[in-house]
Amino acid sequence: MPPDPVPAPLAAPVPIAALTIEPRAVEGRIRIPYRWPAGRTAGAFLARLRDEGRLYGLRCPRCKQVAVPPRPRCLACRVPSEDWVAVGPEGELLSWTTAPAAPARPAEVWALVRLDGADTALFHRLLDVPPDRLRVGLRVRADVASPTVRRGAITDLIGFCAV
Ligand SMILES: [Zn+2]
Repeated sequence: MPPDPVPAPLAAPVPIAALTIEPRAVEGRIRIPYRWPAGRTAGAFLARLRDEGRLYGLRCPRCKQVAVPPRPRCLACRVPSEDWVAVGPEGELLSWTTAPAAPARPAEVWALVRLDGADTALFHRLLDVPPDRLRVGLRVRADVASPTVRRGAITDLIGFCAV
């Protein structure tokens, strides 16, 4: 059997750098329902948020740092953390980013907030903070859903409002 002929190129190759490429966006919507076990530590954090409307962290027995969201082991010391500590409800804004929303709706602002009594930051939504007020160190307060609608999910924390 003769070997397959080598196909001739259709056109001479063009280096990418020589092309003019218009920026294009492909828009769509992907909805992916999922369910995952929260685990022992996050499960306890979410149950307390649901039952008490409060936020808790875990304190490392060695370096005493309080992690929020809680971690079963200190990231620095690698020792188990089992000392639950109430934190917040106020804290300070460390960083933020804006995410475009649907047309005619204000952009969402997502932030890293270090709650009072915590040494790490929690990522969540900022609520009704005008862009001109955004600054590192802004005092914010957790807005927790009413007890009748809390269900043990991170959405029980609606977000953070400026104090
Ligand atoms: Zn530690």
